[in-house]
Amino acid sequence: MSAEAHSGEELRDLYRELILDHARSPRHFGKLEKATHTAEGINPLCGDKLRLYLQIDPSERITDACFEGSGCAISVASASLMTDTIIGMQSRDALAFFAALVGRLTGDPHAGHALDLGKLRALEGVREFPSRVKCATLAWHAMDAAIQKEEAPASSE
Ligand code: ZN
Repeated sequence: MSAEAHSGEELRDLYRELILDHARSPRHFGKLEKATHTAEGINPLCGDKLRLYLQIDPSERITDACFEGSGCAISVASASLMTDTIIGMQSRDALAFFAALVGRLTGDPHAGHALDLGKLRALEGVREFPSRVKCATLAWHAMDAAIQKEEAPASSE
C-alpha cells in the first residue's frame, strides 16, 4: 500500500466504499435469458451461493454477464465488480483476470502484474482476511467453470 500515490489509509477507505456500494446495489444482478454459458458457485464456509450467466459470441467475446443468488457483502460486491469488468472482454482475457486475482489473493502479490486490475484492486484488501478470500473469489471460479463449461457446481474451496 505504501507504494501508492494516495496514502494507504485514503485508498483503503476508497476501496471500502466501492465494495459497500457494489454490495448494496449490485450491477448486472438478475437472470440472463439469452445466456450461452452458465455455472453455479457455492461457498459453504460462508453460505454464499450464486449463479452466473454469460453470453459469449462466436468470436469468444463476452457480450453480457449477469448473476443472481445471495451471499455476504464481499461475495456480492465481487460478483458485481466482476460482471462490470468482463463485459466486452474476450473470454481468454477474462480468464487472465481470474488467474491474476486469485493469485494475488492466495499468496502471489505480483500475479498478473502486467494487467491493470482497475477497480478490482478493491478486492485485494481481502488478502488480509484469509477466511474471506473464498467469498471474494467465488464468482470468479463460477466464471471459470462457465467458460470451460464444467457441469458440476463451482466451489472456491
Ligand atoms: Zn461470504
